[in-house]
Amino acid sequence: MTFDSLNPATGEVVGTHPQHDAEAVKLAVTRAEQAAAWWAELGSGERRRRLLDYKAIVTQNLRPLAELVHQETGKPRGDAVLEIVLTITHLDWAARNAEKVLGRRRVATGLIGLNLAATLEYLPLGVVGVIGPWNYPVFTPMGSISYALAAGNAVVFKPSELTPGVGVRLAELFAQAVPEHPVLQTITGLGETGAALAGDPRVKKVAFTGSTATAKRVMAACARNLTPIVAECGGKDAFIVDADADLRAAADACLWGALSNAGQTCVGVERVYVVDQVYEPFMRELKELASTVKAGEHYGPITMPAQLDIIRRHIEDAVKTGRAVKGGPESVRAPYVDPVIVEDVPEDSAAVREETFGPTITVRRTRDAKEALELANASAYGLGGTVFSRDTRGAMRLARLMRSGATAINSVISFAGVPSLPFGGVGDSGFGRIHGADGLREFARPKAIARQR
Ligand code: NAP
Repeated sequence: MTFDSLNPATGEVVGTHPQHDAEAVKLAVTRAEQAAAWWAELGSGERRRRLLDYKAIVTQNLRPLAELVHQETGKPRGDAVLEIVLTITHLDWAARNAEKVLGRRRVATGLIGLNLAATLEYLPLGVVGVIGPWNYPVFTPMGSISYALAAGNAVVFKPSELTPGVGVRLAELFAQAVPEHPVLQTITGLGETGAALAGDPRVKKVAFTGSTATAKRVMAACARNLTPIVAECGGKDAFIVDADADLRAAADACLWGALSNAGQTCVGVERVYVVDQVYEPFMRELKELASTVKAGEHYGPITMPAQLDIIRRHIEDAVKTGRAVKGGPESVRAPYVDPVIVEDVPEDSAAVREETFGPTITVRRTRDAKEALELANASAYGLGGTVFSRDTRGAMRLARLMRSGATAINSVISFAGVPSLPFGGVGDSGFGRIHGADGLREFARPKAIARQR
């Protein structure tokens, strides 16, 4: 059985891929187990060298990889290039820092009367299953894969059914750097393929990125074998504009954060809270900037057809209960959606509560920054968020109190690109961390040894 991946902008077939069944998944895990033992034995120095070779190969293949991302997601080529450049940055960081973060070190015992020498190190888990989404089909899964490989594990990767081609290519390129064993394999298929991977008892950790609803299904499959999971799920990020913000910069960042990747970004801006004092001037700036932007020219189509229904429903809900500032239901021109801005939408409406994953935002006036923070934190999600303010101390305070895995001050989404910063959410946005030292440790198990001298 095979399935096609389609270009969402043109409907053309981009590639045809096997629908791997449970037997094929089993076989891949068997191969991965053998590869994992070899890769772990290779040692951190040689792994680092091979991963840097892989980085060089991905860099040489940047253009064709970006072309594939462009075709499978519909996103502009420039955005696809940016996604791969960021991936390379993470791959480099993971390769160079694995030994420092995970390698053996002596630790103080703190015990009086016992002459103990203690060491701590982080050992590979074995086989890691990675299940990825379609919105950033290179950057997002590689945010787990790079760190899992650097920690000494073999990976079986199940890309989204919408973007299998680029997933397959990532493993083919890896085999050029590591030809001896299938340390990174890609299995293609629909949700059942991912479910078979999550349910295999030989998989020692699952790194899942996707919707909250699917994360619960993956967790249920993992629960059968007590397999731990990192769950990177959806978001409904808030953007707070405080009284002393640079309003032009805030409006610019807000719009970019909302429209980037046509709003199909887990840490995209979806809810905007502006303090009363600067509400009107901020909205003037936002409207002026938004008036120049058009789907199809400045950003791409909605990749997943079913997502269009959710976006349409949220826009209809928002304009019915709130006041449209720009666009409305007519902005949906499948597969494109022009920017939509709606103000005064009730906080309990679907458009404010649920992840929209489209180029739409709701804007609300708040008495002050305190109220903005309360409303921002009232969401079930807690992935990223933004604060705009010239008052550094005040902005830091708001950022720390924001219920999210990361917060940007006077910029948007910037934290996701920094390899040394952990990435992940709270609440419905999931748990566990990828990227950075925490991301490396997520794919390793601490091993403590105490030796009596
Ligand atoms: P999705 O529908 O939840 O799918 C994610 C992956 O899970 C796909 O590969 C999917 O395969 C697979 N899958 C589906 N059912 C499964 C099952 N029962 N067992 C195992 N795997 C299963 O999410 P999506 O639509 O691809 O991606 C969009 C979502 O991802 C949004 O909610 C977005 O916020 C979130 N996201 C989060 C982050 C983050 O880092 N927090 C980053 C990017 C995206 P098929 O596609 O083949 O069904």
